[in-house]
Amino acid sequence: MTTPPFDNDPSAAPTETDIAIVSAQLGRPARGVVAIAARCVCGAPTVVATAPRLPDGTPFPTFYYLTHPAATAAISALEADHVMNGFNDALIEDEELRAAFALAHASYLADRESIDAVAEIEGVSAGGMPNRVKCLHALAAHSLAAGPGVNPIGDAALDRAEWSPKVCVCRDYDVPDASHFRRTAP
Ligand SMILES: [Zn+2]
Repeated sequence: MTTPPFDNDPSAAPTETDIAIVSAQLGRPARGVVAIAARCVCGAPTVVATAPRLPDGTPFPTFYYLTHPAATAAISALEADHVMNGFNDALIEDEELRAAFALAHASYLADRESIDAVAEIEGVSAGGMPNRVKCLHALAAHSLAAGPGVNPIGDAALDRAEWSPKVCVCRDYDVPDASHFRRTAP
């Protein structure tokens, strides 16, 4: 069994402040967060890993979820620009890309199943994997969590996005103890 990329990273353990920031990012209470799978250079969460079964029992296939508002906006802009059509065409034409995307799907499932194997979502990953590109947010989240070289289409989306985890554009999330996440002094 493989372990998720965040598994050996002590900074992945979600703190109360992390959960408060994620809830502020989402505009609703964060549910079932098992790890902060990727962070902005300032430390604020950008991707959460969510339990494959939510606390209320609902199966939840989207293990890696992009929470950062500037990141989600940048990826939405790509989708609005029909970037997914190009990726889907590339998947049809490029056998190597198709193989790499299938491996990304398998890696995603292995990461999730290391937390819990949920029968209802067995073999179901996210973002259209393994054959299609349906949601760049999910694929970009996977790339941010796993690092470059695991999800080729998530990587390509991040390359083209007008946002980078290396350049903090976080707003003041206005949660207790989050002052160190602020980009500028209040
Ligand atoms: Zn930041």
